[in-house]
Amino acid sequence: MNAIQINGGGLAGLALGVFLRKHGVETKLIEAGHYPKHKVCGEFICGVSLDILSDLGIAEVIAQSAVHRKMAWWMEESKVLEDNLPTAAWGLSRYKIDNDLARLFVDLGGQLSTGERFHKQDAPGYVWGTGKRKKRGRWIGLKIHALDTEIEGLEMHVGKRGYIGLCGIEDGKTNCCGLFRVDKSVKGSGGELIYNYLKANGLLGLSAAFKKWQKDEASFSATAGFSFGSQEQVGEFCVGDASYLIPPFTGNGMSMALESSWLAGPHLIKYAKQEIAWEQAVRGYRQDCADFFQKRMKLSGAMQPLLFHRLGRTLLKTTAKTGILPFEFLFHQLRTP
Ligand SMILES: Cc1cc2nc3c(=O)[nH]c(=O)nc-3n(C[C@H](O)[C@H](O)[C@H](O)COP(=O)(O)OP(=O)(O)OC[C@H]3O[C@@H](n4cnc5c(N)ncnc54)[C@H](O)[C@@H]3O)c2cc1C
Repeated sequence: MNAIQINGGGLAGLALGVFLRKHGVETKLIEAGHYPKHKVCGEFICGVSLDILSDLGIAEVIAQSAVHRKMAWWMEESKVLEDNLPTAAWGLSRYKIDNDLARLFVDLGGQLSTGERFHKQDAPGYVWGTGKRKKRGRWIGLKIHALDTEIEGLEMHVGKRGYIGLCGIEDGKTNCCGLFRVDKSVKGSGGELIYNYLKANGLLGLSAAFKKWQKDEASFSATAGFSFGSQEQVGEFCVGDASYLIPPFTGNGMSMALESSWLAGPHLIKYAKQEIAWEQAVRGYRQDCADFFQKRMKLSGAMQPLLFHRLGRTLLKTTAKTGILPFEFLFHQLRTP
């Protein structure tokens, strides 16, 4: 049997590792960091089906989430939409999910090495789940957990040059995760930096509420220097963000990370059993990804810029407020093959 080596143990790499171990494939996973760790992420999982989570063997990990059925959307100070989510969504911290998946992988006999950065060196059997590529980009992602918000469901607040999502996670906490255009005049650290970005983006009501919330400063994390869309390939077999980074407001990167691992699994099992050559596994997987993701990647890439364009914002605001925006239609198109 051929062995598989997964480089990068985020959601995509870990879910794939669990799936392969469930099918008896010898699997090694190399992760640069250590578990548990906080990551910049909205921590709102929406779109991936329960069948896919069960197939991957990780449904029990996700089942520990807060379940959400409601969403509300603000543009600066004005609430433009409040609705039920067309499908239920889950809220769970990356601190917990990644740690639980890593344990499950090891319990299933996976070989896990942490604190080790694997350097580019492609070979048959190597899968890359190393996340988004660092490159020159104009975005900064910031996140922190708040302890006493009393927020229900998902709230999205769109400001002048960025947005923030608030989502209930485990233990009654709320994840506050924003994506903003880098503004060098905005200073601070931890929760204070997020507060200053909210103010600079015209989200004044929210910034006042945010200031009063008790925050878990240890959960603060930040990331910058990336851009959305296709990522420069690290290797030939990439899962999750390592292959394509979808913008968070219109996309669902965590679901895509899990779905890409679910698509990858069967090809890798055939390769491991020596039923197909590595090149066939790569080709088959890439074709499946193109069929599964192409529509939502195009739509999401086209919609995201509307949020930061004056006319686009007016259009979104007016159509959402008057009920003309086909929210449910777009929601499904952005989440289905
Ligand atoms: C601001 C923001 C908000 C978001 N909000 C949401 C949301 O609400 N819902 C949603 O579905 N998605 C959201 N996303 C997207 C989501 O976070 C990603 O799509 C998801 O984390 C992708 O998982 P991954 O496993 O591909 O990558 P990651 O989770 O980034 O994991 C990659 C791992 O690889 C490791 N690594 C990197 N290089 C190496 C190396 N050379 N060797 C070994 N290990 C390495 C890293 O340490 C890391 O643990 C958001 C993204 C951003 C930026």
